[in-house]
Formats: sequence, C-alpha cells, structure tokens
Amino acid sequence: MLLQSDTQLGRQSYYEASVLREPPLPPLQEAVDADVLVVGAGFAGLSAALELAERGLRVVVLEAGRICSGASGRNGGHALVGYAGGQAPFEQQLGKEVARQAWAMSLEAIALMDERIARHGIACDRVKGYLTVADSARKARALAAEVEALERDYGFHCELATGAGVGRFIDSPRYRAAAFEATSGHLHPLKYGLGLAQAARALGVQIFEHSAVTSLRRGPVVEAATAQGRVRAPFAVLAGNCMLGEHGPKVAPEIGSRIMPVGTYMIATGPLDPALCARLLPGNAAACDNNFVLDYFRFSADHRLLFGGRVSYSTGTPRNLQVAMRQRMVAVFPALRGAAVEFVWGGFVDISMNRAPDFGRLGGNLYYLQGFSGHGVAATGLGGRLVAEAIAGQAGRFDVFARLKHAPFPGGLWLRTPSLVLGMAYHRLRDWL
Ligand SMILES: Cc1cc2nc3c(=O)[nH]c(=O)nc-3n(C[C@H](O)[C@H](O)[C@H](O)COP(=O)(O)OP(=O)(O)OC[C@H]3O[C@@H](n4cnc5c(N)ncnc54)[C@H](O)[C@@H]3O)c2cc1C
Repeated sequence: MLLQSDTQLGRQSYYEASVLREPPLPPLQEAVDADVLVVGAGFAGLSAALELAERGLRVVVLEAGRICSGASGRNGGHALVGYAGGQAPFEQQLGKEVARQAWAMSLEAIALMDERIARHGIACDRVKGYLTVADSARKARALAAEVEALERDYGFHCELATGAGVGRFIDSPRYRAAAFEATSGHLHPLKYGLGLAQAARALGVQIFEHSAVTSLRRGPVVEAATAQGRVRAPFAVLAGNCMLGEHGPKVAPEIGSRIMPVGTYMIATGPLDPALCARLLPGNAAACDNNFVLDYFRFSADHRLLFGGRVSYSTGTPRNLQVAMRQRMVAVFPALRGAAVEFVWGGFVDISMNRAPDFGRLGGNLYYLQGFSGHGVAATGLGGRLVAEAIAGQAGRFDVFARLKHAPFPGGLWLRTPSLVLGMAYHRLRDWL
C-alpha cells in the first residue's frame, strides 16, 4: 500500500518533467565484491558513496528505482540549516556544548552542498535566502522567541519583521511576522541529485538501478541479495528512507518502527510573470510557515510557484488534493487565484518521534541514516559525510547523532499509523488557535 501510493505520487512531478534523464543504469545481475555497499541512491546514499569514493574505497550502490526517484528527487528543494526537531533533542539529551556542535554541523551541511555544487559543476538553480513566516499572533511570538534563542545560544542571525515590515519580504495578507536568514535557500533537487550521482560515478562508484535489496545477511561480511544478484562487503550503509522495509521487510526491521512515513504534497503552477514573482517574494527566498502542519513554497528558475503542504498520516493520498493545495496557495497569494496548476505530486517523509535525525549502527559494520523528518535536503549530505568518517575510523562526529535516543512509535510498525493520526489531529488543532 505504501509503496503503491509512493509510486503513484512520484509520477506527476515537475522535477521529473524538467530534467532529461539518461537511460536507466542496468540492474545488478552478478555477484560483486565491494569495500562498502550502499542501499539507496537518494541524497543520503549518494553523499555517503561520494565521500567513501573520495577516500579511495570501492563502493556499490543498489537502488530499487531510479537515482533520486524517492524523496530526494521530489522535495520542496528548501535547503535548510538546523534540524526538523530544532535544537531541543540535542540540548536535552546531550547538553548545550554538543548541541552547539550539532548546530555547527548543520551549517557545514549547507557549505558541503555548495562546495559539491561548485566542485562538480552541478547546474541546479541554487538560490540563497530563507523566510520563516507566522500566520497568527501566537505563532509570531513563537517565531520571535526562536529568532532570539538562535542569536543568543548559537550566534545565528535572522532579520525579524513584524506588521507592515513583513511586506519587505513577502506580499501576502496572511502573515503577521517573518524571519529572514541568508544561509539557507533553495535548489532544484533532482538536478542536484543527478549531479551527485554523476560525480560519484566519475569517482568509480558503481550504481545499479532497479536493484532492490530484498534480503541482507549480517556478519563480518554483509551480503545483500537482489532479484538477480548479490553484493558482499565488509561495511554497508542503509539509506533507504521509508521504503527500505517495503522492498526488503527483513533487511532491518528494528529501525523501521523508529520512523513514520508521512505523506506530503506539492503543486507547481505554470510559468508566471517574472515581475509578479519578484513582487510576491522580493528576495526570491524560499518560505515556510512555523505551523506544525506547514506550508512551504518558492519560485522555480522558470518562474513557477512550487507550493508544498498538506500531510497524510494514513499513507493514503488525500482526495481532491489539487483543489485543496490550490486553496492553500491562494490563501497565501490571492494574486495567484487565476494561475493554472500544471503538476501535482508528493512523497513520504521519514518522521522520527523527536524529529531529530536517526543515525546509528547495527553491529559494528552496518550503518544507517534515516529520520530526516522532512528536513533532509542539506542534512542528508552531512549524514553521508559522517558515515564515511565513521567507516574510515573517525566516528566522533557520527556518534553525536548515534548517541541520540529515539523512541519507537507506539504500536510498532502496524499500529503506529492510528496513534500518530490522533496525535497529529491535536497538533493541527493547535495550529488553528
Ligand atoms: C514532497 C516532499 C517535500 C520535501 N521537502 C523538503 C524540503 O523542502 N526541504 C528538506 O530539507 N527536505 C524536504 N523533504 C525531505 C527530503 O526530501 C528527504 O529528507 C531526503 O530527500 C531524504 O533522502 P534519503 O536519501 O534519505 O531518502 P530518499 O531520497 O527517499 O532515497 C532513498 C532511496 O532508497 C531506495 N530504496 C529504499 N529501499 C531500498 C531497498 N531495499 N533496496 C534498494 N533501494 C532502496 C529508494 O528507492 C530511494 O531512492 C521533502 C520530502 C518530500 C517527500
């Protein structure tokens, strides 16, 4: 069911329609030995592969679908500092000093992304600038408190605007406050991901598409099986996001119950008048509100509004998706009432209970990266780098994340959905207050 709705949701993506993919790479049809096996060719797996290959290791990547056909090729393209759960999980569990280290690593994640874009010449429409907006007095107070805490505790500066001042950043009747920062921003995620894959392949990484790992034998040498082949390696990295257990239910069931697949959706308008885009978002920043169920939006390089929002906790695709999304978009920008919607798509994000990334090891040599909680465009790159450092024997930074405790969702794999639906209904109600 999850896999089926995910496949359907990926079909109509603006990103797929705006790139020219190479013909598929052949599936694995033999037995291959490697230094490291990576499962999943999304941002996390590709980042790990790239970093490992840069260290001279032989890397094989097995991908169930096509490169970045999962969340990495479908997302809002908002490249963000920090983590979905904020700094609280780090501060509460590991203390202020380690939390500062985690924050610095989130800045490194953005720098790493930009470095790769420059080094490998990845043309992916990168723009800097990010706006967080608040649509009620209560949310405006929360935003101001967050801006103050980031400045005080992490030395990170955002420009806060309230009332009429908001109009400097966004032309919308909806928002009471806005916070701008110049580090985060946006890009075309599929162009970026295909560029990462090309860079990895140029360094000798072997990528097999349409090669789902259906089973995995653990031990000093990990052995993964696909329909027609197998890979043996002393180390493996699982970067399969929500679909890992769908393709291979027995690959790592113990980590599956620590993430929850939550559907999130996007629409893209047809190309708009560039002058209108410049009026609606004068700095061309990406924007997101600070509600629990959030709206996120930005303009593409060809002047479409890419608008994301709505969530589904039941794994089913909401009915009347396009109509509902369009209503949300028009509530933000009434000027777009007449704009045509040309694409509707979506995907699943891997929410962890505390929204912090969930990195760790199963045994000494099987690593995993998951739990990006809808905040993975930049953080996945960091995850890949840290896993490569750990495999190369320097686990200190990886362990900052591996030390975080993650509770499984109540009800385990089968009952986590109904219990989360109840919890989320409560948070959605609070957004409206
Ligand atoms: C609609 C949407 C909007 C989003 N917007 C944003 C945003 O604006 N900013 C942001 O920071 N984050 C956003 N996210 C989240 C972000 O896209 C993810 O955090 C990130 O892409 C996760 O990368 P990944 O490599 O872990 O997973 P994925 O990109 O999903 O890659 C995992 C890959 O593993 C493969 N796979 C799974 N199981 C197996 C198996 N058994 N064998 C072989 N291959 C397997 C899958 O086919 C897939 O290609 C969004 C997500 C969605 C769905």
